[in-house]
Amino acid sequence: MVSMSLDSSSGISGVSQLFQLLRDGVPRTRAELAKSTGLARSTIAARVDELMRMGLVTPLAETVSTGGRPPSQFALNPGARLVLAADIGASHATLAVTDLAGSILAQHSEPLDVTLGPVAVLTWLVQHARELLARVGREEKDLAAIGIGVPGPVEHSTGQPVNPPIMPGWDRFDVPGWVRQHLDVPVLVDNDVNIMALGERALAYPAVEHLMFVKVATGIGAGVISSGTLQRGAQGIAGDIGHVRVARGAEVPCHCGNKGCLEALASGPAIARALRAQGVPAENGDDVVDLVKRGNLDAIQAVRQAGRDIGEVLTTCVSLVNPSVIAIGGSMARVGEHLIAGVREVVYTRSIPLATEHLAIVQSAAAQNAAVLGASMLAIEHALSPESLSALVSA
Ligand SMILES: [Zn+2]
Repeated sequence: MVSMSLDSSSGISGVSQLFQLLRDGVPRTRAELAKSTGLARSTIAARVDELMRMGLVTPLAETVSTGGRPPSQFALNPGARLVLAADIGASHATLAVTDLAGSILAQHSEPLDVTLGPVAVLTWLVQHARELLARVGREEKDLAAIGIGVPGPVEHSTGQPVNPPIMPGWDRFDVPGWVRQHLDVPVLVDNDVNIMALGERALAYPAVEHLMFVKVATGIGAGVISSGTLQRGAQGIAGDIGHVRVARGAEVPCHCGNKGCLEALASGPAIARALRAQGVPAENGDDVVDLVKRGNLDAIQAVRQAGRDIGEVLTTCVSLVNPSVIAIGGSMARVGEHLIAGVREVVYTRSIPLATEHLAIVQSAAAQNAAVLGASMLAIEHALSPESLSALVSA
């Protein structure tokens, strides 16, 4: 979950530098800290005191009684500050308050149409953020940052959605600027699939450096973590695999204007459409999931074929990125193994053996919490970065 930087340039304070070591939550003694930093014991002692004064680091009670000696181990105090994590979906939104370790303290979820536009949706966010803070007995000043995931491409440096196809009114809207008028803390915005990748990794694969998260729902997209870093690309659309053409596509029209896109064949609505053409009643992705769970053979075959189509595109991704984990999530992943079996069938037979020797293709472990966990990670990563900490120390 934590990327460690001991860069002493660019004005990063020594206190912040020491904190980057303690961020992983593992308790350490002053002697251990001195050893891993090469700093003098007296310097370590002063910096630990400063971090304790800020509340970010806490002394741990010793397991054996030492007759009043001061505690000698220190670790991150996850409750020192809070972050707000928001998962804005096409038709549903979830908001959570988490601590600095990403543990969810309170959560609220309800149907919310993203097409209502940024002001209505963000007003909802601010209002419920205050309610959640009140519920856990904390105040706005305890917030360190806010992470928000939205269902469209985002220019990460500005937090502005860019030409998001299913978010009318959001194009180039200054999400951080608007939110900060109400909750004045750093606001990080990213594409929902990107934050799902962060959430999945934090929950299930903290030691994995190369991971892809594939969301299969109304749309299809992927979040790519390479060498431990989320890859956004030049315009924030890295991993947008939904409009890659697949062989079976031929003349199937896609809402993007092209033909034969992966999304036009393997998304929830696309599978439902294919089933209707066979006379099987399915209006949407949820109906497909229900049919599969009831053992409908046509639905199972359609889902398996969708898995193969996704696998076709992922085979190329595997060659480019060489991930060790591909996690499949999104609402269509609820069909279980049938979808993943189709993905595996193609990826494992078409990729070069070396690329798949240690590749796990699995169901998302974070499931419906992936996005909110990832939004929390995005916010925490910013709040605890050397730069943010240095600003806090010098403040
Ligand atoms: Zn398309």
